[in-house]
Amino acid sequence: MRITCPFCGERELGEFTYLGDAKPVRPVAGASEDEVFDYVYLRDNVAGVMSENWYHGGGCRAWLKVTRNTLTHEISAVEPAAGAGAAKVGA
Ligand SMILES: [Zn+2]
Repeated sequence: MRITCPFCGERELGEFTYLGDAKPVRPVAGASEDEVFDYVYLRDNVAGVMSENWYHGGGCRAWLKVTRNTLTHEISAVEPAAGAGAAKVGA
């Protein structure tokens, strides 16, 4: 599998680190214990298209949001993760 980094271009998978599902949103301060538990421990086991966080540690060190089919490993989109490396776009 190869990932096309928006900053570096197409690179080998070994340059990237998988950081999990990009969908969970951090609970607000004062959230219930159940909401925090769900955020920290519960993840969907998606068989199909999902958004994932990846880190390009072997390249630009940007956090990326990758849309990937977990059954075929086909990648349909790669974009900078919100607040991580986004300032480099268009620089
Ligand atoms: Zn990169």
